[in-house]
Amino acid sequence: MVTVNEITASSILTPQRNGSLSSGYDFTINPYLGCGFACSYCYVPKFPNARHSLPEWGGWLEVKMNAADLIQKDRTRIFGSRIFFGSATDPYQYAELEYGITRQCLEMLVKYPPKRLTIHTRSHLMIRDIELLKQFGDTLSVGVSITTDSDAIRQEFEPQAPSIYRRLELLKALKNAGVNAFASLAPLLPTNADRLIELISPYVSRVLIDEARWPEVNRSPELLDKYADFFEHESYQATMQKIARAFPQKRSSHRAIAAPPSSHTHHGGSAHGSHKEPLQLKLSLSA
Ligand code: SF4
Repeated sequence: MVTVNEITASSILTPQRNGSLSSGYDFTINPYLGCGFACSYCYVPKFPNARHSLPEWGGWLEVKMNAADLIQKDRTRIFGSRIFFGSATDPYQYAELEYGITRQCLEMLVKYPPKRLTIHTRSHLMIRDIELLKQFGDTLSVGVSITTDSDAIRQEFEPQAPSIYRRLELLKALKNAGVNAFASLAPLLPTNADRLIELISPYVSRVLIDEARWPEVNRSPELLDKYADFFEHESYQATMQKIARAFPQKRSSHRAIAAPPSSHTHHGGSAHGSHKEPLQLKLSLSA
């Protein structure tokens, strides 16, 4: 059960002067505070401005009812900037079906287009907005979180989030629409690496792989113990590297976004291939 509050936000742009996103982005935008997906490993409660205690994470949501108005107000800062949309929430969590704040924001952003827009989600609800997303052209990159090949594992770590199958549906829809997308294997959860590669490679042009971090805010530490063999440092690194090697036109680091084998290039290849994510996107991008 998620307690939802409608709020009037005072601002919508969070400048990125320091931190992992700062070299690639000028601002982040989060249409919601909190997140109903409540992933057990979520790092957002680690932020010092978190309003609620860790055990409450996932149980509350604040809806920025005036988010689109704030974007219009900040249009001169937004036009031509680099924006990461959904750094501390999932913009397509289920509340979006009722409130449509993310859609309102994107409708406003497309009027004052940033030079670069990255949206990150775990949710197939994004399919609703495919036509709108297409209007951003090559300035847009969508990261779809695929953390494991196993929906049983997903249910353990991300019980409130959409199934892996639904996320693959989203990747397929994005590919068919020609929307630039990558798969975010961050954090990589226990998985059959070969099967995961097989699942995602038909749909994505790049992958981002990163490890589970922030044990201090992990709300299901028993899962880290249960799958200790998978998370054991050396074998975990080896699994990430194995997946990274499946995408040979890339940087060698498994923390970089990697281009796929040429046989798996999509979206017209070079048109979207020129839009690279920064290496600094090596944190656990979660939402
Ligand atoms: S990791 Fe992302 S989708 Fe999951 S709870 Fe955190 S913000 Fe929401």
